Amino acid sequence: MSDLPTASMPAVDAAGQPFSELPLAPAMLATLEQLEYRTMTPIQAASLPIALAGHDLIAQAKTGSGKTAAFGLALLSRLNPQSFAVQAMVLCPTRELADQVKQEIRRLARFQENIKVLPLCGGSAMRNQITSLENGVHIVVGTPGRIMDHMERGTIKLDELNTLVLDEADRMLDMGFHDDIAYVAKRCPKERQTLLFSATYPEGIAQLAKQFLRQPQEVKLLEQH
Ligand code: ADP
Ligand code: MG
Repeated sequence: MSDLPTASMPAVDAAGQPFSELPLAPAMLATLEQLEYRTMTPIQAASLPIALAGHDLIAQAKTGSGKTAAFGLALLSRLNPQSFAVQAMVLCPTRELADQVKQEIRRLARFQENIKVLPLCGGSAMRNQITSLENGVHIVVGTPGRIMDHMERGTIKLDELNTLVLDEADRMLDMGFHDDIAYVAKRCPKERQTLLFSATYPEGIAQLAKQFLRQPQEVKLLEQH
């Protein structure tokens, strides 16, 4: 990892700060208040300023630390609700995790009407997914295999994609998704932000980042966070 620039974010100092410290729309802040997200978790405090500034990011923090909102707020902040085209894509290792991410993004998107978040996982009817894609969605959350399937069939258009998230990247690698992730990432627009979130930091993550992230900043939180 030594050849990648490392962010020296004061993660611990920034934790506990209110979300209002961030450049977020007032309606978004109101939603966070409604959700009773009063202060940022350490990973949110460390990664949101980087992600909102548009940088690629590698963020590592343990399970339950609030990583979903860290990338969810970043991708929602640059979404154009008027354009019914896929603007953000989140890759997750399993259907269950994709469903949780979908729920959290929908909660965070409550402040804006009509944001469509579509799960794209294996085990669901292809036809229904294709119909939903044809009707227009802003964000897709799914497993690499099924998203690859849509790309091969030409049933998903990614020309307007501006954010690619690799969530639980360590688990995706453990499950053998490297080649599927590569297939998807190589066919996403080059001008995009890529955010990689992981609970652990094995060597494979560094390799993945080298392949698909551009000058990423890194945020790694110690175990106690
Ligand atoms: P991770 O992806 O790191 O495992 P999650 O994104 O699933 O963690 O978040 C864990 C839980 O913490 C969720 O129930 C989420 O709603 C909650 N949460 C996230 N951010 C905050 C916050 N700033 N304040 C309070 N609760 C939060
Ligand atoms: Mg998570």
